[in-house]
Amino acid sequence: MEPSRRARVPTARAIEKHTVRTDATSDTTALVDAQFMGRALRLAHAKLGRTAPNPAVGCVVVREGVVVGEGATGEGGRPHAEEAALAAAGAAASGATAYVSLEPCAVRTSGSDSCADLLVEAGVARVVAACSDPHPFSDGDGLARLRSAGIAVSLGVGRWEAEALNAGFFLVVREGRPLVAIDPDPTRYDAQLRLDPNACLLVELRKLAVEGVTRVCAPPDTFLAAALRAAGLVDVEPTE
Ligand SMILES: [Zn+2]
Repeated sequence: MEPSRRARVPTARAIEKHTVRTDATSDTTALVDAQFMGRALRLAHAKLGRTAPNPAVGCVVVREGVVVGEGATGEGGRPHAEEAALAAAGAAASGATAYVSLEPCAVRTSGSDSCADLLVEAGVARVVAACSDPHPFSDGDGLARLRSAGIAVSLGVGRWEAEALNAGFFLVVREGRPLVAIDPDPTRYDAQLRLDPNACLLVELRKLAVEGVTRVCAPPDTFLAAALRAAGLVDVEPTE
């Protein structure tokens, strides 16, 4: 994770909408949850910049303290992390806990089984999700689907890191534009911006969002970086 590079994008709507639930019954459970969620978040982070138009998500399936399957969102957004992790776990997913860095989807554009459905079918006993997903295909419905199937659900473990990871995707959903960072290293972004600083930058960013771009960067010390700042469109500044 790179907690030092904090997105200042407010992602509070999801927090307000869903009550934080902590099913941890002991400090030990909380520590174990934090450990495996950390692993899921690292899997997601490794895919940043390569999963657009979908967010980079990580999933770790744990049974009796042992990782039996894990995965992350594939290049271009498919497969979803849960699909990959459940495929790796196979029958071992039955009775297991699935750690996911974002609420599982409840609907798929392809019409295939959603990740919430896949988790139910796999027979997992518990799902720990770092944060909820404001996308209309989730938006609480993914967690509701799990709960209605009798799966124990915990929400909020690793929330801060997950919201920073998903900030670009959330901005596209809520504001119709990608996250903008001032960063000389384009590695973790969908694209490096090459816009005319005199253009209407918000319009140009919205066009990119329509194309499925969720995270972009502009090099520091450029006219474009200055123009983005002046327009109030910079979400992540470089850390000193
Ligand atoms: Zn999914």
